[in-house]
Amino acid sequence: MGALTLSNGFGRNVLSNPKKKLGIALVGLGNYATRQLAPALLETNSCELKGIVTGTPSKIAQWKKTYDLKDHQIYNYDNFDSIAKNDEIDIVYIVLPNNMHKEFTIRAFEAGKHVICEKPMAMNAEEAAEMILSGEKANRELFIGYRLHYEPHHRESIRLCREGAFGKIKFFEGGFGFRLGNPNQWRMKKAYGGGALMDVGIYVIQAARYTMGEEPIAVSAKEFKTDLVKFDEVDELITWQMEFPSGAVANCTTSFSASTNHFFVAAEKGFIRLSPAYTYGKISGFTKDTTFEFNQVNQQALHMDGISDYFLKGQPHLNVGGDEGLRDMKIIDAIFASVNQNGKRILI
Ligand code: NAD
Repeated sequence: MGALTLSNGFGRNVLSNPKKKLGIALVGLGNYATRQLAPALLETNSCELKGIVTGTPSKIAQWKKTYDLKDHQIYNYDNFDSIAKNDEIDIVYIVLPNNMHKEFTIRAFEAGKHVICEKPMAMNAEEAAEMILSGEKANRELFIGYRLHYEPHHRESIRLCREGAFGKIKFFEGGFGFRLGNPNQWRMKKAYGGGALMDVGIYVIQAARYTMGEEPIAVSAKEFKTDLVKFDEVDELITWQMEFPSGAVANCTTSFSASTNHFFVAAEKGFIRLSPAYTYGKISGFTKDTTFEFNQVNQQALHMDGISDYFLKGQPHLNVGGDEGLRDMKIIDAIFASVNQNGKRILI
């Protein structure tokens, strides 16, 4: 799979303090940090949990107990910047609501740390570009929480597509959506960067881009709402079409009311289908010729190890850099622009 390994080429993979395992600090101890990332850090070989940043003091005792953390490894949002003085922490992992990603990424860079920021990396492409610039100025690296690049079904799908196993790709169809229950959470608020497209539609944009191996040149999108009260602030369901330079096309859907989790890549002589495609649990898939039989992996552990090995061993990381996040934000901006203009075709 060597052809798939891409470094972002910034060349800032120099550690000030060479060590065997990198220290990661999690910022925001919500669902994803608590249920996925922290447990994954017990399975990583090249990084470990060395700090937490939380605005909720009542969470601290349990985290200290579970992860053997000491007082000097606990931060809040106000004293976060003093993390600069903590040499145990090499990478700050931002797991906050989307509207807080930019601020904490920039503060982490200013504290001299490398950053992994959750998806979507920002509220829009303008913010994403600022975050990248801030990393360049600080001479530190930015990565996005794109765990699926390290997942075997996705890696194999990319390989088959890159090698033209089924000829030229002509068509992609994909969707990721679920019924969002609690209407009072930040995912339902526009100011927090809520909505289905930002939350899960981004996975479909990713999959279309990395299977087709091209960047879309135009997008047309429409939004559909069945519950105007629940979805008064954010999108309930969006369908969008992306046009690629080769003439290939992608039809995509995202939703906070309908359950879907799949992609289908159609080429001249065959196809690849994954369903479920984007979950942390078991992913399944088949091609025209074979059924995939990959074991379930810990995607978060592989992702964080992949990034850590880039620093520790100089191994190229997969395509999970800030530049990749910015490309997605430009597409998301174009999708919203099209929705706001009743499906007008927007050039990217
Ligand atoms: P969550 O609501 O469970 O956690 C958010 C955390 O931020 C909480 O600890 C909360 O206390 C804290 N917070 C600080 N200020 C806040 C404020 N003003 N309002 C609300 N919360 C505030 O969310 P989550 O599901 O853990 O998502 C966090 C980030 O991780 C999001 O960017 C999300 O897109 C991303 N995520 C990624 C994946 C993935 O598979 N890569 C999965 C889930 C979530």
